[in-house]
Amino acid sequence: MFFNQNYKFKRNMKLIKTKNVLKVVSMSLFLSLCISKDCNVGEQAENNVTSLLNTRFESVFYPTMNAHKYYQTIKLNEQKNSEEQEIPKEMIAITFDDGPGKYTDRLLDILEKNDAEATFFVVGYNIHKYPETLVDMYNSDNEIGLHSYSHANLTELSIDEINDEMNSEIDELYELGISPKSYIRPPGGAINDDIVANLDYSFILWSVDSRDWESRNVDEIIEEVNNNVKPGTIILFHDIYETTVDAIEILLPELSKKYEIVTVSELYDKSDITIEKNKTYSKVKKK
Ligand code: ZN
Repeated sequence: MFFNQNYKFKRNMKLIKTKNVLKVVSMSLFLSLCISKDCNVGEQAENNVTSLLNTRFESVFYPTMNAHKYYQTIKLNEQKNSEEQEIPKEMIAITFDDGPGKYTDRLLDILEKNDAEATFFVVGYNIHKYPETLVDMYNSDNEIGLHSYSHANLTELSIDEINDEMNSEIDELYELGISPKSYIRPPGGAINDDIVANLDYSFILWSVDSRDWESRNVDEIIEEVNNNVKPGTIILFHDIYETTVDAIEILLPELSKKYEIVTVSELYDKSDITIEKNKTYSKVKKK
């Protein structure tokens, strides 16, 4: 049975081979005639010869020599791809300070387009300027934390003064129907043990600074992030700069291939870590 099939197969291949050789010879003759007469179908004929040569090579050589091997390779590749799809992506959190600003609406659109979520540490004095942006931010999958009302250096204030800063910010957010997270991102990263121990909040720092506030340059922001990002990173950006939003537009499609881009809460939730009050957080370390 196998012998018969194999015999037929070889005979068919021989026929295909003979037919194709004849076709190649006749087309080559036609082509050389066309070329010598500057014929405008010369290019088409040349393409036909090339594709015929390729077809002949495939149909004669690989079914007889490599059919089984080829089939196995395909199967293995398919299996590998489906396994790869099941591997969960590593997570990073992106955070934006000092907003909202005039570029924040555009940023929200970019986040949505890329299936990314972010944590926004807004300042109190910007709340009344961009109420609709804040409501949009809150009603999407992003989250809102505190950055003080006046962008104060917390280390220069008493505990009562810091509480006043936070409470006036919270009051304005409540008026918009927004309940912020009880997270503080201290302006300028200025913080000390006394503040952490005595304020009833969690303190969210960062592990990668995009330095967008310093460079205000799209390429430099992208380079800074790409050079330092790794699983569990919390990245610091500022949504008040157009260059930051431009950089994010380029960065997110690339980053989201490798990482799930989430809020700070989600980064810790999914890592089975509870964010507690009177503690600081800057990244999730890989177990
Ligand atoms: Zn700030």
